[in-house]
Amino acid sequence: MVDFPSPVPPGAGWPGDPATARTPVAHNAAEVARLAAAADTLAEFDARVSVCRACPRLVAWREQVAVEKRAAFADQPYWGRPVPSFGDPDPWLLILGLAPAAHGGNRTGRMFTGDKSGDWLFASLYRTGYAEQPTATAADDGQALHGVRMVAPVHCAPPKNAPTPEEKATCGHWLDRELVLLPHVTAIVALGSMAWQTAHATATRMGWSVPRPRVHFTHGAVTEFGTPDGRTIRCLGCYHVSQHNTFTGRLTEAMLDQIFRDARG
Ligand code: SF4
Repeated sequence: MVDFPSPVPPGAGWPGDPATARTPVAHNAAEVARLAAAADTLAEFDARVSVCRACPRLVAWREQVAVEKRAAFADQPYWGRPVPSFGDPDPWLLILGLAPAAHGGNRTGRMFTGDKSGDWLFASLYRTGYAEQPTATAADDGQALHGVRMVAPVHCAPPKNAPTPEEKATCGHWLDRELVLLPHVTAIVALGSMAWQTAHATATRMGWSVPRPRVHFTHGAVTEFGTPDGRTIRCLGCYHVSQHNTFTGRLTEAMLDQIFRDARG
């Protein structure tokens, strides 16, 4: 890849960068809400997400990581910006994670690209017919998803992988708007219990019906949300593709593949 400054300036030519130097920037939660609501297309939405600076702690962390870098990637540019959602622009299936990894998505600028969790996820998506190729290593590697879009409740890499409730609430304005711009979604795979909780909280904010009592998260759990426009959205729980789960065998390739087959209904 051509050399870039780290973090990468908007519109500098990074593969897949949705923004330009003129993309409007949100500096606080109110501006996120306003700019999200005014994004009429998914392309404009992704561009606005990718330049957001509304969470001071996360902006500082993502940019510090991009400058300091991990030794193994010291010769590479780091994206160091919010990582926009990735995949099919008109999906029926969403994969809901948590936040980008500091040296994965925050480096490559693409969801789950360039880390061990992503290796597992993209390999499974390839085996089950959703991904163009089995690996995802860089923003210009030719990977593509069919029918699927990866979304994150928080678009910036957080310290210790732990966004605060305030940061989740601020970034939630982006997620709510994204769901409006994706009118054909009928299934969600929630990676981990936090994504499961986020799916329920988001469904409630969106005015979707949520079963009571709630279905508890476990691997293979299924619940259904009802949208005001008449869709039934199946939400499937899946253990997160974290190294903790994959190294210990808590999540196997077969278990992960089965979730994506089940998602087809
Ligand atoms: S986490 Fe979301 S709201 Fe906060 S700065 Fe990043 S993109 Fe903006």
